[in-house]
Amino acid sequence: MKKKILVAGGAGFLGSHLCDALVQQGHDVICVDNFYTGRAANLAHLERCVEIIEHDVCHPLYVEVDEIYNLACPASRIHYQTDPVQTTKTSLLGALHLLELARKTGAKILQASTSEVYGDPLVHPQPETYWGHVNPIGIRACYDEGKRCAETLFFDYWRQYDVKIAVARIFNTYGPRMHPNDGRVVSNFIVQALQGKPLTIFGDGQQTRSFCFVSDLVQGLILLMENSLEGPINFGNPVEFTMKELAQLILKLTGSKAEICYHPLPQDDPKQRQPDITLAQSLGWEPKISLLEGLKTTIEYFSNELAYV
Ligand code: NAD
Ligand code: UDP
Repeated sequence: MKKKILVAGGAGFLGSHLCDALVQQGHDVICVDNFYTGRAANLAHLERCVEIIEHDVCHPLYVEVDEIYNLACPASRIHYQTDPVQTTKTSLLGALHLLELARKTGAKILQASTSEVYGDPLVHPQPETYWGHVNPIGIRACYDEGKRCAETLFFDYWRQYDVKIAVARIFNTYGPRMHPNDGRVVSNFIVQALQGKPLTIFGDGQQTRSFCFVSDLVQGLILLMENSLEGPINFGNPVEFTMKELAQLILKLTGSKAEICYHPLPQDDPKQRQPDITLAQSLGWEPKISLLEGLKTTIEYFSNELAYV
């Protein structure tokens, strides 16, 4: 059935891939974005298929829709820490206004939550039942606590007003259309390697992350929207790498002779992270793209992008 679907944050990295997939399924897609980290270029190829509304989700919005995906929020540390008050406002007010919209229209709403709700985890790998270990007053809190409180709002709108919700906890996802200056580790290392600049490892590089390719993640979000489960549910690729291993792999795949240099570890940087995806697997979801395969595609994308800079 053809649906009218709103994607808040649709001009960003994940949002634009989600718009692609929803358009491909034949739906009418409306993208709402304030272009803080998003780019019109990410949706240029969908010009005739997606309606774009420039709007800050910190303000109320009314559009008749059947489904809402809330991805509006800067996801990279350097961007969400530039204006932390705005980050908290985006998470809280954005969730509130979009939940109100869902309540008024009867639309189902999905929240793009994050593995950051687990903070610097004391349980490994992280199942959805783990309540997390977050510093509420640290420099990551605007994002972590903002996302945690957004989850609270989602579950209270579900319990109190019967709003249909789904909460996805997304673990580190990468792929084409990340901004070259995004600041996250995969795009940083690839851009540095391609430009022959030293790869900047923060700390000793022994901290771990588990990286999911964007197409796998988008399939997970759509599957969850179609399912009756409220979640929260982890989506990520459980294969775990140290940042040193990631740097070495990117140097090998790019054939770069760039050096590796070490910088201080930022405050509250989580030491390890790996999703327990048992619940997602019970829905029939499984990441299909290995880090090797996903990195090759992403390196090819950045090689083309940088050729025009
Ligand atoms: P991104 O920065 O590329 O995209 C975020 C989008 O939201 C951008 O287009 C930005 O302009 C828009 N936006 C920001 N503030 C807004 C506001 N106040 N009003 C309207 N639009 C606003 O990041 P991304 O990686 O595509 O992440 C998308 C969502 O997924 C975010 O909510 C993020 O927290 C979540 N997430 C992403 C990852 C990941 O690894 N990519 C991991 C966990 C969670
Ligand atoms: N990181 C790094 N060099 C960089 C960027 C990030 O070593 O140039 C590290 C960062 O300290 C963290 C990991 O890579 O330990 C993942 O960082 P990212 O910002 O991509 O994601 P997050 O910390 O939000 O999971």
